[in-house]
Amino acid sequence: MLTPDLKQFIQNMPKAEVHIHLEGSIAPETVLELARRNNRLDTLPTDNVEGLRQWYTFAGFEHFITVYVAIMGTLRKPEDFALVAYEHGADMARQHIRYREVTFTPYLHLGWEDKGLTIQDLLHGLEEGRQRARNEFGVEMRWVFDVPRNASFPDESNPASYNPAPAELTLEAALAGRQYGVVGFGLGGYEVNFPPEPFAHVFGPAKRAGLISVPHAGETEGPASVWGALNELAADRIGHGVRAIEDPALLAELKRRDIPLEINPTSNICLHVYETYAEHPFRKLDEYGLTVTVNSDDPPLFNTTLTREYEVLAEHFGYDRAGLARIARNAFRVAGMEEGLKRRLLTEFDAWVTVNT
Ligand SMILES: [Zn+2]
Repeated sequence: MLTPDLKQFIQNMPKAEVHIHLEGSIAPETVLELARRNNRLDTLPTDNVEGLRQWYTFAGFEHFITVYVAIMGTLRKPEDFALVAYEHGADMARQHIRYREVTFTPYLHLGWEDKGLTIQDLLHGLEEGRQRARNEFGVEMRWVFDVPRNASFPDESNPASYNPAPAELTLEAALAGRQYGVVGFGLGGYEVNFPPEPFAHVFGPAKRAGLISVPHAGETEGPASVWGALNELAADRIGHGVRAIEDPALLAELKRRDIPLEINPTSNICLHVYETYAEHPFRKLDEYGLTVTVNSDDPPLFNTTLTREYEVLAEHFGYDRAGLARIARNAFRVAGMEEGLKRRLLTEFDAWVTVNT
């Protein structure tokens, strides 16, 4: 049950988040500001914040993609990326999020639409925002650069039409970004018809360069997608992975290898992976012994926050202080940050929990 007391506990608890998309977490106010700066107001359905907030409201996958593409189009210059990275840090401070591993999709700004930007433009913009946020708020951000599945298949109904160019460009950006906080390599987008196997050619080099492999799998597609991510992409964590619940052998394998899941309950409800929280397998996956984390995915688009997702765990899944703290600790533990920082953040987290539970 979500008592006022537990709500306060959740708000104050130092948190980490490992599954959130930069382009999917921009506040409506900022999207308007960017559209104004870049003469893109005509690409939005409204020029006021309230109207945009309503347009953001989730109304099916097609609408979600339309909104996402419009937001993406408002980011045009290095300073735009600096602004959204900085605001991401300000949001972390408001929610007591100490560390975030933020997914960013370079290909959508470089190849899918030619904005005249280079890899270095993106990296320098993101770095400026990240450093400003660290200096001002003391928060730590690292990046996951992910390959967009959908943009990699010119013929959307034919998995054999795979085009390696988006994956190769993403790899190039991720390798260049290691000195700017890129720690992970991902695979995002709609899974149906877009299996993970063709992307193996970039995950090998990414892992050899020291990046962790964190593909989305087992969200819009079932266990086969998770098996592919494990066996062909050597996944270190699975983005979502909730549909592993449909395959006992897969659950056993995830447990044996201790592969953490990045679970996003409200995102799953909005995208109709499950119709209600009661049907959602979060607690079952946890009780089975998998390492689970809770995350917000694209918070303003799903009308949620990371804080709200912890409230969902208390309200709908019956977690108490000790349970919430255990889940929260998992996120620090499984993060791709360097060991020294991880030790420091875990020490801080454990000290807080000792006093507050
Ligand atoms: Zn995601």
